[in-house]
Amino acid sequence: MSIERVAIIGLGLLGGSIGLAVREHAPGITTTGYDRDEGVRRVARERGLAAAVCDTAAEAVREADLVILCVPVGAMEAAAAELADLLPDGAIISDVGSSKQSVTEALARALPGKTIIPAHPVAGTEESGPEAGFASLFTNRWCILTPPEGTDEEALAALSDFWAKLGAMVEVMDAEHHDLVLAVTSHIPHLIAFTIVGTASDLEDVTRSEVIKYSAGGFRDFTRIAASDPVMWRDVFLNNKSAVLEMLGRFTEDLTALQRAIRSGDGDALHDLFSRTRAIRREVIKEGQDDGRPDFGREDHG
Ligand code: NAP
Repeated sequence: MSIERVAIIGLGLLGGSIGLAVREHAPGITTTGYDRDEGVRRVARERGLAAAVCDTAAEAVREADLVILCVPVGAMEAAAAELADLLPDGAIISDVGSSKQSVTEALARALPGKTIIPAHPVAGTEESGPEAGFASLFTNRWCILTPPEGTDEEALAALSDFWAKLGAMVEVMDAEHHDLVLAVTSHIPHLIAFTIVGTASDLEDVTRSEVIKYSAGGFRDFTRIAASDPVMWRDVFLNNKSAVLEMLGRFTEDLTALQRAIRSGDGDALHDLFSRTRAIRREVIKEGQDDGRPDFGREDHG
């Protein structure tokens, strides 16, 4: 089985990037796209995010052998339900949602009996919308597939092959494990950024203009993450509740231990931790998951 016609539902950052990546890296595959927002469809046509941008979901999925839902996690069930009577026999249904257990359940409820293989490309930016996508978003990034038990092997191989064509490295794991791993690598870091940026903006004895003026001291790196799409992130926290709360519990304990080390002047504890974290940064760079130049390669070292 090979994938030749892909329908992309939701033409924002992720959906648009899939369309552009197909055009650039897999020109043999035909794309159709649909977004419920007329303004988004207009920009999608202008930018060529799909070979055909359709005015209805029915038109977009009519001949698809793969349908990818690229909508916020909380909108997956409604978007899938709209397709229930429209999907061609044998089409694979997938998605790009940032949490996987609740999405898997939602898709199964909306589309009983269909071939559903949830996926999460671990690639993104703080931008959203139809202007934000670009063809190289998935290059050298991981795409995690979370096939439910009993998934057809041929369909799984075809979906893996599709993502590999877009430049991604593919990993398969179960949805529960995905949610735990992503809670610590993505969801908690975002929560910390939302918190620190919120805390700084609420301070009374340091002015907001000072926070912005001296942001090169570290704060500005948190503001990039904290500028991420509010709808997307609201849905991620509401849908990956138990893994996030579990990891947040551990994080809070570690933070309390650091607080104690600072209070009691335990320099060794601080130095040990900071040495371990510096080593992790070096591993991230060695794995090609970030720019290795100091300060992300910015010209103006603050
Ligand atoms: P986005 O740029 O906001 O795009 C989502 C688009 O889907 C919007 O145009 C939205 O329209 C549309 N939409 C919502 N409900 C729909 C429906 N029922 N039918 C058709 N279109 C609908 O969001 P994104 O950043 O691409 O995120 C999409 C998904 O990718 C999310 O599940 C997110 O968790 C996941 N993801 C995001 C990132 C990232 O860094 N951004 C990374 C990996 C995975 P409206 O504006 O009218 O609602």
